[in-house]
Amino acid sequence: MVLLDAGSTAELAARARAGLGDVLGSDAAVVGRAPGRVNLIGEHTDYNGGLVLPVALPHATYAAAAARSDGTVRLASAQEPDPFTGHVDRLGPGRATGWAAYAGGVLWALREAGLDVPGLDLYVDGTVPLGAGLSSSAAIECAVAMAVVGLLGLDVDDALRARLVDACIRAETEVAQAPTGGMDQSIALHARAGTALLIDFTAGTHETVDLALDDRTILVTDTRVSHRLTDGGYGSRRAECERAAAELGVTTLREATLEAVEALTDDVVRRRARHIVTEIARVRPTVAALGAADWSALGDLFAASHASMRDDFEISTPELDLAVATAVEAGADGARMTGGGFGGSIVAVVPTAAVRTVVGAIDAAFARAGHAAPAHLLAEPSAGAALVG
Ligand code: ADP
Ligand code: MG
Repeated sequence: MVLLDAGSTAELAARARAGLGDVLGSDAAVVGRAPGRVNLIGEHTDYNGGLVLPVALPHATYAAAAARSDGTVRLASAQEPDPFTGHVDRLGPGRATGWAAYAGGVLWALREAGLDVPGLDLYVDGTVPLGAGLSSSAAIECAVAMAVVGLLGLDVDDALRARLVDACIRAETEVAQAPTGGMDQSIALHARAGTALLIDFTAGTHETVDLALDDRTILVTDTRVSHRLTDGGYGSRRAECERAAAELGVTTLREATLEAVEALTDDVVRRRARHIVTEIARVRPTVAALGAADWSALGDLFAASHASMRDDFEISTPELDLAVATAVEAGADGARMTGGGFGGSIVAVVPTAAVRTVVGAIDAAFARAGHAAPAHLLAEPSAGAALVG
């Protein structure tokens, strides 16, 4: 059994500081921390004006930073081999590439937002698995943003957090060129421990949802089939949703009715839109099921969501389908794939007493099917980005 440990904040902040010293020869002035996330329901709905319900993970990314007076930007990561060197005036689209687009892109976007970002040395380390659908991308962006805010000595209130969300979205969509919708950055910056975040992308609002999990555990299983959001699958789904909205004469699919969607002539466009409309309709009932500890209702909602992603949106994989089916057979209340799809992770709500059984059953099923061993983690609902040193 591979169980990914979140690590302690103090130890990981110290590790990031030590990395900055060892690799770039700088003394850290600040350490920013931002969590990965798992989305409970509402998949691909953020860019359709919909509802999402993510939870921040205890697993996070840490960015240790020191300001420089010469405008030079040096970036290094414990998770990626190639360091980056550039200049703070030249970090926009096309300048910082590869993993450095995520970190450098934030520095550019914060400058565009009017912050007086200095040159800096920055070192990243953490425990969010990369490319697992658990938003390591927003975790690195938001950790870097927090580090910059720390260097500038700004007061981190809700208004500043909202500006940081926008800057991190610009870094991801314009510099890293991954056309994602904003859920990941919102949860990384606005999460509160013990809660999920219900985000409404039409109203532009978010509210915390208390999670009375009692004897239940949120289990995440990373299938270790790595997805790539920049590969085209995510972008083509987004384009199909935009086509459906245009044909229906609505700004986003949030405004579309299921009846109108069923009348769309193109089979693929109709099924894509059906997923979005039905998935948005499952989010508030999921909030209600969680609030009432109605695990049977939650299981039905997760099952319908997974089937919709597998059959209508076509973003699942054999590994994700196997993990979901096995989790439910082994005693999970509900399970579904989570994140952008084409690989990545599943999320399951499991009676705490059955977690070991469920994990063992998934491991055994993967071994029998000849799949690589999956990795599991316990998604204790955690706090959002902060300065930690
Ligand atoms: P996900 O967000 O689901 O983990 P993405 O494809 O959106 O997957 O983002 C993963 C990419 O983000 C990595 O390939 C890498 O470029 C960058 N990244 C994330 N975390 C780190 C890190 N700790 N160090 C360096 N790059 C990172
Ligand atoms: Mg991502």
